[in-house]
Amino acid sequence: MNDFDVVIVGLGPSGSMAALLLDSYGIKVLAVDKEKDIYPLPRAVTISDQGFRMSQLVGIEDIYLQNSTELGGAAFVNKDLEVIGGSIDLKGLISANGWPPVSLFHQPYTDIAIRQKLHTSNVKILLEHEFVCLSDEDENIRGKFLNSKDNIEIEFSCKYLIGADGGSSNVRKQLEISQLDLEYNRDWIVIDVELNGENRLGDKALQVCDKGRLATFIPSHLPFRRWEFLIHENEDKHTFLKDEKIQELISKWLKPDEYKIIRKAVYQFHSVVAKNFRKGNAFIIGDAAHQAPPFMGEGMMSGYRDAVNLCWKIALSIKNKLDTKLLDSFEVERIPHSKFVVENSAGIGELMEAYAEAKDPKEVSKDLVQKGYGSFILPNLTKGLFFGGTADASMHAGEIFPQPLLFKNNKIDKRMDKIFGKSFSLISDSTFTVDKETLNFLEQIDCKSIVLSEDYINDNSWLRSFLQTGVIYLVRPDRYVFGATNSEVSIQHLVEELRLRMNL
Ligand SMILES: Cc1cc2nc3c(=O)[nH]c(=O)nc-3n(C[C@H](O)[C@H](O)[C@H](O)COP(=O)(O)OP(=O)(O)OC[C@H]3O[C@@H](n4cnc5c(N)ncnc54)[C@H](O)[C@@H]3O)c2cc1C
Repeated sequence: MNDFDVVIVGLGPSGSMAALLLDSYGIKVLAVDKEKDIYPLPRAVTISDQGFRMSQLVGIEDIYLQNSTELGGAAFVNKDLEVIGGSIDLKGLISANGWPPVSLFHQPYTDIAIRQKLHTSNVKILLEHEFVCLSDEDENIRGKFLNSKDNIEIEFSCKYLIGADGGSSNVRKQLEISQLDLEYNRDWIVIDVELNGENRLGDKALQVCDKGRLATFIPSHLPFRRWEFLIHENEDKHTFLKDEKIQELISKWLKPDEYKIIRKAVYQFHSVVAKNFRKGNAFIIGDAAHQAPPFMGEGMMSGYRDAVNLCWKIALSIKNKLDTKLLDSFEVERIPHSKFVVENSAGIGELMEAYAEAKDPKEVSKDLVQKGYGSFILPNLTKGLFFGGTADASMHAGEIFPQPLLFKNNKIDKRMDKIFGKSFSLISDSTFTVDKETLNFLEQIDCKSIVLSEDYINDNSWLRSFLQTGVIYLVRPDRYVFGATNSEVSIQHLVEELRLRMNL
């Protein structure tokens, strides 16, 4: 008998998301972190539209909303901060997920609120305990934690283990999972400041392509601003943490009396992807599975995607005593997607270097420009738990189903994902029926049948583009489309294929 259904190692953003999700499915979870407090140094600052939508699954979207600002846009600029090669305006845009493409948040505020939410959940939390080792026994996992205060070892057993223990993941090492190094490894200093007075800096993120020193400016949630500067190989990292050096670096934007330095850290930005995200019943998610330089602002988002992709599959597997077929789809779906994020984040860094070196931005190779700018559009899922096993654009399989929205005075009044529930949903604009056998299966997986009224469809161009009369979509708990009916695929056929693919 296991102590817990799932043990999560690491309570950073990825582990916290996984813990809240599993708890929302009623799974018995132990979550362990070696630290007592949340991570204190400057890290994630942007949350994407999908990040907000994933947050809705566990009710933390308001935590982000109350502590964030929409990003106005992004541009590559030269050393004089003049735009080169084009810029992107994002202000006022709403994606199919029903949120602005990118928002900027202050992580110390959000992480504390999320940790508090975890403490009020049913998740058993063990802080100041370090994961030491694990062993597989039959189908179960056993392992040890070390209490860092008194060095006492604690043993645990569980059905599933999730390693969300960051870039130097011991879980990954214990599972002997190697990594693919995409070879962007550079030292950067990251600085957060609090403005003393009114903000007079713009609302666009700037990639500063200065041959003397590459830099990034992020117009964080006010009163905060962020800068990142490349440290050259021949330079001493430690001097960059001194206030005088930081003031010199920021002098292009602000005078020292205009701000307070609140956080600073030197990081080596990596670009690595683990070759597997799973071994048996143990999984790795977040930075344990992939690390990207932060230029795309998608590292934590990738960790959230891992958690969201994995947790409903674990919950369904536990509740229905499934074999591993459903869980097999986790790494099939997540490895290519997270590799895209890592490659294209590094691509932005490489494009900055190329722009900085070029006499004329037009000299820069089209491939690099494509990679640098292409990163702003994330791919759909390609292979995995979809009708036919492969994403099919003709039925939107592998794409995210748009969020239903209610508008008031041309503004979003309510985001209505909750009508889809926590499990699968069949969604159409017209009423539909299923036979008894199909209905029994749908009830077993808590699938909801939803007919979206015109109130939802008329004002939502995203939904209009999906919902042609009579088409029925089968949408997964993570809001990705499994498949849709058409002249050759009936609703029975669609649902039966899901049952077979899950071995249920
Ligand atoms: C400068 C910078 C800026 C960034 N900006 C963005 C951004 O704007 N948007 C974005 O989406 N991403 C961004 N990222 C990436 C993002 O911060 C990371 O992807 C994210 O923090 C990863 O979360 P995680 O939970 O997977 O890992 P971590 O945040 O590293 O958490 C791992 C947790 O595991 C614990 N742990 C480690 N080892 C053990 C052990 N043996 N036993 C128990 N516990 C253990 C740690 O204490 C920690 O709490 C940025 C990163 C950097 C460096």
